[in-house]
Amino acid sequence: MQNPTYDASALTGYGANPLDRLANHRDDPAFVARLREAQTVRHVVFTGDIPLLRQRGAALDPFFGARDLAALGSARETVLLGQDDAGAIFATLLEEAAPESGEGDTGLVSLDLRSLAVQGLLPAPLLGVMAQAKSILHWHARHRFCAQCGAATQASSGGWKRLCAACSAQHFPRTDPVVIMLVTDGDTCLVGRQPRFNPGMYSALAGFIEPGETVEAAVRREVAEEAGVRVGAVAYHASQPWPFPASLMIGCFAQALSREIVVDTTELEDARWISRTEVQAMFAGAHPGGLIAPAPIAIAHHLMRAFAEAREPGF
Ligand SMILES: [Zn+2]
Repeated sequence: MQNPTYDASALTGYGANPLDRLANHRDDPAFVARLREAQTVRHVVFTGDIPLLRQRGAALDPFFGARDLAALGSARETVLLGQDDAGAIFATLLEEAAPESGEGDTGLVSLDLRSLAVQGLLPAPLLGVMAQAKSILHWHARHRFCAQCGAATQASSGGWKRLCAACSAQHFPRTDPVVIMLVTDGDTCLVGRQPRFNPGMYSALAGFIEPGETVEAAVRREVAEEAGVRVGAVAYHASQPWPFPASLMIGCFAQALSREIVVDTTELEDARWISRTEVQAMFAGAHPGGLIAPAPIAIAHHLMRAFAEAREPGF
């Protein structure tokens, strides 16, 4: 039997997040203010969509204390992310661009969240915290006006809501669900490549879930659209927060009911069936045709690895 604490989602890039989000306390402004004024408060800081970090020796430190934060400039938005054993963590979006990295000896580094993950520059739990911060700050920056009446809105509930004083509408941060699926047929699986992928990289197919659609229906529709393959059973594997800007990747295995591929060239450059042996060779960096697997931060990597190791799917 599987270890009850095993969490496939926590193994994905941005999937580990140790914070208690304190969701039951957000509506208490005095509680949020107390956390924000505590000596131990830490802020992760963004200018636009880019995190700001400090170089400390060979490591990057994403945390700024209250005084350090004040020295960076004024805050446009501040959101309570949650707390860990060391205290509360807030996400702060600066009003102005902070000093550029490389300008003098500021010790500051601006580096996008994808590079931080791909280059392994932060421990996995901190990547999860930064992903949470990026997605919620991105939402605030683009929802400053009421979608119902057009008046300016104000952040509330520790930054997890925006309120419109003019029409009383409440606006909540959005998460956009995406299905990403490895279609299998016995010992083969269906992979595709988009033109923007690194040369040789093949991955699982993916697409946004539409309003009114189930996960299963979205999997079947996307696979039919992109590769012309019919799909039967769909089984959930794991999920992954994907902060570009605020997606939730829902990773599934899907059982093929047909094999003929018709590639939608507006979405994909190529799609093909490959064997389990070939997927194993991709992970070993030894595929005879030069095919390369997605990076470990991607949930597609974990879907393909589970298939390569014959751990899943059950069908
Ligand atoms: Zn309004």
